[in-house]
Amino acid sequence: MISSQLQSQLFSKIATRDILTANNLVWGARSPMRIAQLKIEVWSTVVYVHLPANPTSRVSPQGISRFLSMWDYLEWFMMRSLFKANNIQARLVGSDIWEVEGSQRPSYRVHFSPFGARCHCMLFLCLANRIKKECPYFYKLMKQSSFFCGQVVCHHIAAALSYQGFGSLAEYLEAVRRKPIVA
Ligand SMILES: [Zn+2]
Repeated sequence: MISSQLQSQLFSKIATRDILTANNLVWGARSPMRIAQLKIEVWSTVVYVHLPANPTSRVSPQGISRFLSMWDYLEWFMMRSLFKANNIQARLVGSDIWEVEGSQRPSYRVHFSPFGARCHCMLFLCLANRIKKECPYFYKLMKQSSFFCGQVVCHHIAAALSYQGFGSLAEYLEAVRRKPIVA
């Protein structure tokens, strides 16, 4: 059973609307009222989406009843991190430690290690704790993704990676592995 916290971060109505729109499954202007009618059920390996028929609506009057892939949601999460990372500043404050501009706090610290990256924001902490336990299939997909490499990549981590010239966590880890050890 997936918690409401995880559902609201990874499988939200906004994410679902974006995925439906990108796949030409829903058309028309953005309709907040229609989005509010979306029902989203997270199953173990897929997401079931239902929009009741509404003949008076210009947005999918016949309704929607279909499964969406968890890859779509993973990709949405990646795009969200990359998009938000574009607009924030990051600076190196220590060896492999970055200070990244935040919205709820002035800044968040991002730590890099040969094993990955950690952030202190609520999004990272909430997701890092829950995904593996509550949605093991999504976690499995994260391990297959070079952007995520089996861990949460929030927009702060994405910003710190981008400042170092990396497009994904896999690129960073590869560079660390190749770096000669200085005695
Ligand atoms: Zn973060």
